[in-house]
Amino acid sequence: MREQLGVPGVRDARNRPLHDLRISVTDRCNFRCVYCMPRDVFGADYAFLSRSALLSFDEIMRVARAAVSLGVDKIRLTGGEPLLRPGIEDLIARLARLRTPDGRPLDLALTTNGTALRLKAQSLKDAGLTRVSVSLDSLDPERFQRIADVRISLSAVLDGITAAADAGLGPIKVNTVITRGVNDDEVISLAEHFRGTGQILRFIEFMDVGNTNGWNLDAVVPSAEIVRQISAVYPLEPSAPTREGETASRWRYVDGAGEIGVISSVSQAFCGTCSRARLSAEGKLFTCLFATEGVDLRAILRESAGDDAVRAALAGIWGRRADRYSELRSTINASKRPRIEMSYIGG
Ligand code: SAM
Ligand code: SF4
Ligand code: SF4
Repeated sequence: MREQLGVPGVRDARNRPLHDLRISVTDRCNFRCVYCMPRDVFGADYAFLSRSALLSFDEIMRVARAAVSLGVDKIRLTGGEPLLRPGIEDLIARLARLRTPDGRPLDLALTTNGTALRLKAQSLKDAGLTRVSVSLDSLDPERFQRIADVRISLSAVLDGITAAADAGLGPIKVNTVITRGVNDDEVISLAEHFRGTGQILRFIEFMDVGNTNGWNLDAVVPSAEIVRQISAVYPLEPSAPTREGETASRWRYVDGAGEIGVISSVSQAFCGTCSRARLSAEGKLFTCLFATEGVDLRAILRESAGDDAVRAALAGIWGRRADRYSELRSTINASKRPRIEMSYIGG
């Protein structure tokens, strides 16, 4: 479609375009979710990136401009917890002014644990953010604190979701990682809570990102099981994807109470349409969530003042890309392969 409109773009070695850029703005977080930043690894003495190691907003903008010139029209800010990065609204305002080569504004989203939304939702909207996704794994106050491994209350996140909706940052997607034996008994209550609210609950399969979260296949609850469970109570029917390369499969309630999404990264790989690149907070570019290493764009940014060098580097990296980890997961000896932590690479 974009190509038909005469918009230039790069294609990787498997003919996939580059459409989405996820930018991690910090590797720090105020949560210690057990499946992402287990406290015994990410404790008081953990060496997070120093301030000078982080890309500045100017540097992030240079990468974003290059990416947009190569076909990116969707940028998601993530982390760690992106709302911990001081001045994030300034970065959003600058990204919101970017236009695609055919003159369209970007789809500008942010993924957050929601705790700062009560305070920041309106200023994020005013800065030009299009929408937010909020992560929430339990509606039980004690279990919520156990999974996030914090004392912050569940109500802070629920109030954050309300504040984001009031500020016009919708439709809000609520991301839930379902883990067998941890919160798989909450599928129906979560569905009930968000049905009819206009907020879109999305179930994410527990993934083998990083090396610290003790992942094993038995802990994964396949999306098909979740759809079956909900459908038995509130019938669902499949809904068409809103855009090519979408990670979630959409299901709508037959009674008109909205929709849910399922992200089946483990049980049903979607590498064939994966159009996402990820920029770490220190400027490494990853072309797969499960990559073992990224390309150091910060060195290029700090060596050369010209944007052409960044654009050429990005185009070259994407042109060589052949990643399809999820499709190959069962054939790779996954446990032996070092992987980047989710809190570093950005989910
Ligand atoms: N801190 C923000 C948040 O939690 O929304 C943004 C970063 S977080 C790494 C992005 C998303 O990754 C969250 O929705 C989180 O649930 C998800 N995530 C982290 N580790 C995961 C894992 N092992 N499997 C599946 N999803 C995971
Ligand atoms: Fe923090 Fe998000 Fe990871 Fe939880 S999932 S520890 S909120 S980065
Ligand atoms: Fe994309 Fe890599 Fe995930 Fe496949 S495994 S969908 S290539 S990020």
